[in-house]
Amino acid sequence: MKLKLDLHTHCWEATRYAPPSLDIARRIVNQIKEKGLDGIAITEHHSSKYSYTMKELIAQVAPEVIIIPGQEIDGPWKEQVVELFLPDGATFRFWAHPFRLDYTDLNYHIRGPVQGIEIDNPMHTWHLDRPAIRAYAEKHNLLLLSDSDAHYVEDIGRFHNEIDLAELSRLGRNGNGLKSQDV
Ligand SMILES: [Zn+2]
Repeated sequence: MKLKLDLHTHCWEATRYAPPSLDIARRIVNQIKEKGLDGIAITEHHSSKYSYTMKELIAQVAPEVIIIPGQEIDGPWKEQVVELFLPDGATFRFWAHPFRLDYTDLNYHIRGPVQGIEIDNPMHTWHLDRPAIRAYAEKHNLLLLSDSDAHYVEDIGRFHNEIDLAELSRLGRNGNGLKSQDV
């Protein structure tokens, strides 16, 4: 079943690092519903702890809303990779807002293979070379993703994907996609 999901949001930053609470959960849920989404991934920088806490709180106020815990991590070249921890235990990784695609000469590597790449991210529109990203994704068999990268609550859901969670799990599990030796 295809779901409408924004897979890259910074809910903690968006609420000015307020401690997780049911009030915050309600604010986030309201925005998700206003945008007509089935859910979001919560992907703070360098830690997934907040996302798991918020997932529990959101489940109390709106159990029908899908929350995927995750985090955004830095690679050695400051490239950023989002990790999504899926309900069945698989991890799906995607390259967020790629700022350059020719890492071949840079000994580029990331923590694990990525299976997706962002082609839309309103925080980074100024440098996203969409035709090049599209060609790159095709070459390396990466899923193209459109996410908000929201740093304000009202930005959650500015972009979203229509995606089957089972498909993300399948891609994450078989690890296909871009690995360091491929670039
Ligand atoms: Zn981000």
